[in-house]
Amino acid sequence: MKLEWRAFALRVIEAQGVSHPRRAHAHRSGWNSEQHGVHVPAIRLDGKLLAQTIRGEIAARVAERVADGKHAPGLAAILVGDNPASHVYVRNKRKACEEAGIRSWLFPLAANVSQRDLLNLIAELNANPEVHGILVQLPLPPHLDEKAVIDAVDPTIDVDCFHPENVGLLAAGYPRFYPCTPHGCLQMLRRTGVETAGKEVVVVGRSNIVGKPLAMMLVLKRTEMNPMGGDATVTLAHSQTKNLAEVCRRAEILIAAVGVPGLITAGMVRPGAVVLDVGMNTLDGKLVGDVHPGVAEVADSLSPVPGGVGPMTIAMLLENTLRAAEMLDG
Ligand code: NAP
Repeated sequence: MKLEWRAFALRVIEAQGVSHPRRAHAHRSGWNSEQHGVHVPAIRLDGKLLAQTIRGEIAARVAERVADGKHAPGLAAILVGDNPASHVYVRNKRKACEEAGIRSWLFPLAANVSQRDLLNLIAELNANPEVHGILVQLPLPPHLDEKAVIDAVDPTIDVDCFHPENVGLLAAGYPRFYPCTPHGCLQMLRRTGVETAGKEVVVVGRSNIVGKPLAMMLVLKRTEMNPMGGDATVTLAHSQTKNLAEVCRRAEILIAAVGVPGLITAGMVRPGAVVLDVGMNTLDGKLVGDVHPGVAEVADSLSPVPGGVGPMTIAMLLENTLRAAEMLDG
């Protein structure tokens, strides 16, 4: 499997890096350009291309399932209010579902929907056998109790992996689902041949959606039950971390999930590190990450924004919806 990932990584490098032949060579031979005083700009970790491959694999599994006479997996998306970014995210998720043969339904609700109506809709969807995944797009308007909404989703179809039962299973090392964005990061590393076992990893940001579960996945022991366990040595940094730059410079793999444009600068990155940028921020009308572009001059590889972790997150949502359908079929 490792060799397949390595081969895939080289294909990605070759597909995008004809302009970086030395980098591709360095990767094949294990040669470290920084040790030799030669600088090569970072490899672009192309999440769009990787996600396309993963979605193709999922589409094939869905087609096989349908050919066996089973239901196509189905995802119900609940979207409350008019947040333009949320509309874009949900549209992209549904489009990806359709392309993979996964059915999807959209439930748009007014921004002033009552908590009771929202919970009633979730209860109806929980009981519908054609629904294998429920996605409640966050953030919710402030009058709604986000925790109660997350708790209301049946954990067996909680494809975002936000329900406390699923968070607990993950923490215990027996995951039912992997949370989508952290799983997208781990898949990006694995499929480009970056080993996490024994590595010094720093995650900046400790949210329940990204940073905390990502640190959890990275630190978990890799087992048959938990194939995405990272076996890494992990530091989880946040707004109260002292000497953030110094902490980040320890990282062989640095992952930023902060929500502050360009927070991670070149001086905070260990030369030759692998850097993943989870951030999705709007700056002057453009989508930008948490990592300053200058980091490309120091890092070995860097995921871009857009086209990095974002598409991987969507691919992992499809993976979870298919997985839920497979688990429900027995
Ligand atoms: P969040 O809930 O706002 O959490 C941000 C985290 O960053 C918090 O833990 C916060 O620390 C920490 N932080 C804030 N400023 C900091 C600073 N100056 N130094 C160090 N730590 C700092 O955000 P989130 O939901 O995790 O999202 C983070 C980013 O990822 C956003 O840009 C979001 O849009 C993006 N995102 C992308 C995807 C994707 O698929 N690519 C998915 C989800 C989110 P405290 O806990 O101390 O406040």
